[in-house]
Amino acid sequence: MNKLIKSTLASAIVLSLAACSSKPAVVDYETKAMQLAQKHIIIDTHIDVPYRLKNDWEDVSKKTQRGDFDYPRAIQGGLNAPFMSIYIPASYERSGGGFLLANQLIDGMEALVGRAPHKFAMAPDSKDVIDQFGSGKISLALGMENGTPIDGKLENLQHFYDRGIRYITLAHSESNHIADSSYDIRRKWKGLSPFGKELVVAMNNIGMMIDISHVSDDAFYQTVAISKAPVIASHSSLRSFVPGFERNMDDDMIKALAKNGGVIQINFGSSFVNSQANQYGALRAAAAKKAGVANDKAFAAKFKAENPYPFASLDSVLDHIDHVVKLVGINHVGIGSDYDGVGDSLPEGLKDVSTYPNLIAGLLKRGYSEADIEKILSGNLLRVWRQVEAYAQAQK
Ligand SMILES: [Zn+2]
Repeated sequence: MNKLIKSTLASAIVLSLAACSSKPAVVDYETKAMQLAQKHIIIDTHIDVPYRLKNDWEDVSKKTQRGDFDYPRAIQGGLNAPFMSIYIPASYERSGGGFLLANQLIDGMEALVGRAPHKFAMAPDSKDVIDQFGSGKISLALGMENGTPIDGKLENLQHFYDRGIRYITLAHSESNHIADSSYDIRRKWKGLSPFGKELVVAMNNIGMMIDISHVSDDAFYQTVAISKAPVIASHSSLRSFVPGFERNMDDDMIKALAKNGGVIQINFGSSFVNSQANQYGALRAAAAKKAGVANDKAFAAKFKAENPYPFASLDSVLDHIDHVVKLVGINHVGIGSDYDGVGDSLPEGLKDVSTYPNLIAGLLKRGYSEADIEKILSGNLLRVWRQVEAYAQAQK
């Protein structure tokens, strides 16, 4: 869709909404949000389409029955550049095969572009996202979730850079040869491994963004101390709303991230957003234990029927954004939804990639200016991405 069609569509929506509503004040926010979603670039730094398609293939260039992402819904929501997650489960660190899987998942994204070149294009550089904006194509950027495929070799960093990967999440749910994970109590390295420290420097030098989502607090602090460029948290939320959940960031970490010039991209998954949802799995496990039965699918269904899942609200996601803004200002927060990665745990109003306008409407209602909203939608992330590119360029 070109810019003209985009804006014509937006005006048509304005007219149709205005024509059929008796509450103009409410319509204004929703309508304005639809316009802003089309007018500004939206980057979401964590969408798990590659792994979803590996397990349960559908043609996402068309409307799909399952999942949170497809082309028509992305266009409807105004999404321009998802970072597609090249997700490597933590077990690959032990079993091997991470290098192979990462390449296959990247192949899958290239195949998607190959099959629907009028709908998708790869976006290895920040400039590609800008150039492709308004073309009707969704720019596919790539982030690797878990550094396991690097396999202790800096030449593999070059290999994946050459294949278009532009961020690497240092570890996933278990400590690997690079860093400790927030979920892993062993704390093998007490932060980064010696190779991990070397890798951070090499990532700076090559122009690869460093993603500190998933790593332990020590690994985070060591990373920002070493990194010469801003880092990102590709899909994390705030610990102040989910106390004790190390996978989220606490206020001191957000201050350190801001000092580094980095950005936290808020995860929409309910278990990242509120404590009740975060505790739900543990409560179910405890109930199964008490009943003396296996915590299996059948028990989960029964438990869910008796104890409905405590979905987070759109407002609570906005609270996370507000909290970062109050703490460190508007320049360090963005969107990392985790669509297709968190199952049926998404807040009402943020269920899939068609719903970014709801988030924007919520920001408008809270008094955010268009300029501030633009920063949250993509401006902050683009600033970091460009700084990472510029640092690498200056090393040549
Ligand atoms: Zn993740």
